[in-house]
Parts: sequence; structure tokens; C-alpha cells
Amino acid sequence: MRSDCIFCKIGTGQIPSRVVYQDEDVFAFEDGNPQAPVHVLVIPKRHIDALSDMRDGDHAVVAHLLEVGVLIAKKKGIAESGYRIVVNNGQDAGQTVFHLHFHVLGGRRMNWPPG
Ligand code: AMP
Ligand code: ZN
Repeated sequence: MRSDCIFCKIGTGQIPSRVVYQDEDVFAFEDGNPQAPVHVLVIPKRHIDALSDMRDGDHAVVAHLLEVGVLIAKKKGIAESGYRIVVNNGQDAGQTVFHLHFHVLGGRRMNWPPG
């Protein structure tokens, strides 16, 4: 828990969010500025700055984040139509919140390559 981290505070409920899923290790909530009809963020409850800051002990929780992303896509009804799970890692990728999060996006046609 980092006292200066907005997603740590969301994960503990100190800052309210629209919760989609949670378990012991993972928390998922609606993105506040959605870029698609479905846009959910999946985070580890334990603070990790970014994907490139994963350490050995983090691999299981990161795999679990992906698993939860797939579960949410099913729950939101976009598993058949298709969806994208995205991690922005670092400045050039557009990461703005430095607590690891997976974006689950769907419900519209996505462009490729991403902008
Ligand atoms: P990124 O640019 O990959 O770091 O993504 C950060 C995401 O967090 C953006 O899509 C924001 O809309 C979202 N976001 C930031 N603050 C909040 C918040 N308090 N509640 C919900 N979503 C948020
Ligand atoms: Zn954090």
C-alpha cells in the first residue's frame, strides 16, 4: 500500500469506485474515462509500479490479473464479439497511473495498430 497511490486507495476502498470484481489479490473497477462501451481496469491489490517492475514473486498475481480480465470479458458479454486486454508500460506507451493495471476494452470495433 502506497499512501500516495490512487489505485492502492481504490483497491482498499478508501477511494470509491464502481467495483466489477475482487478477491484476495485482485481488484477490478470501471474506468472513470471509458474508451469503449466496456472499459474495466484490473489491478493487483499489492502495489507494483509497472509491468517492467515485476519481480519473481509477482508472476502468479500477474497471470491471475489476465485470468480475471478474461472472466470480466465473459461477465460483460464481450467474449464472443472480441475484446482487447492492454497494459501501457511507461511514458511512451501512455501510462499515467504507476500502479500496474490491465485495461479490458470491448463492445466496439478496435483499430490496429493502436495509436
Ligand atoms: P494508463 O494511462 O494506462 O495509466 O491508464 C490509467 C487509467 O486510469 C485511465 O484510463 C484513467 O481513465 C483511469 N483512472 C484514473 N483515475 C481513475 C479513477 N479514480 N477511477 C477510475 N479510473 C481512473
Ligand atoms: Zn499502488
